[in-house]
Amino acid sequence: MKDSEIKFKYIYGPVPSRRLGKSLGVDLLPFKICSYDCIYCQLGKTKEKTILRKEYVPTSEVLKEIKRKISEKCEMDFITFAGSGEPTLHKNLKELILGIKEMTKTPVAVLTNGSLFYLKEVSDALINADVVIPSLDAGSKKSFLKVNRPSPSVDFDKMCEGLINFSKIFKGSFLLEIMIVKGLNDSEEEIEKISSLANQMKIEKIQLNTVVRPPAELFAKPVSEEELNGLKKYFNAKVEIIGSVEKIIEASLSLPGKDLENRIVELTKRRPVTLEDISAGLSVKIAEAAKAVTNLLNKKEIKEQIKESKSYYIGNSKE
Ligand code: SF4
Repeated sequence: MKDSEIKFKYIYGPVPSRRLGKSLGVDLLPFKICSYDCIYCQLGKTKEKTILRKEYVPTSEVLKEIKRKISEKCEMDFITFAGSGEPTLHKNLKELILGIKEMTKTPVAVLTNGSLFYLKEVSDALINADVVIPSLDAGSKKSFLKVNRPSPSVDFDKMCEGLINFSKIFKGSFLLEIMIVKGLNDSEEEIEKISSLANQMKIEKIQLNTVVRPPAELFAKPVSEEELNGLKKYFNAKVEIIGSVEKIIEASLSLPGKDLENRIVELTKRRPVTLEDISAGLSVKIAEAAKAVTNLLNKKEIKEQIKESKSYYIGNSKE
């Protein structure tokens, strides 16, 4: 079997990312291990809620796969730690970031829930990345428990202090994502609390988001784009609204050597996608995407989930 035909276990894509262009995803945890169990999580409910840092997947294997992908010379804008859980739970995150830096100049991004920045080992690892995108969805312990449903070992004040301190020493791009959930963290009082924390951080950009994709809990509802726009005034940093469906796909994707159905399966394994997402993300006509999706549904390789009259397709491995 040729190298290019060997499947990857720990990396995926490059996939179109709303924030990072063509992003090669690196998944450091088995599905789904996280320090939170957010009500809006598009991956569904957390199976193992923990703050235990360990080598969940073999570091050397992950680096080998990244090296192999780089040697295929496919175009990518970022190598991004994201995927099936919280990447800072992998205890060799620093070694992984530094290992990538030795192989390529492609910048490294880390999408994280921000829960463990207060740990020196975590901030020592993240400091080596080029872009760090943590989340902060609550301004008080009460809403933190409701929206993020953290592991009991995550202390709200320590979590916030960790984020604030890291933002001040980090030399790369620090983007803060805030997910607004209708009726839970969208009151003026709560937004003022969130903004007073965010305003203590050194932030390149705040990304205001809302529940667009099918969430873990049906009661997690979105706010309107107008409401998101109305929240901009509370923050000192530049604010970008990324909640609307239309903005989700920014980049086109080319994965030579893989047929359309495989590429769709790869996309749906990572997040729920619409036909429009597939069409824009994989540069194919909607009709072509629809035909491949129908085949995959018949073969039960993906499943359909309807949210607000819109169909989303999800990889069956996410059950
Ligand atoms: S949204 Fe992120 S932080 Fe929240 S449960 Fe899902 S993977 Fe964990």
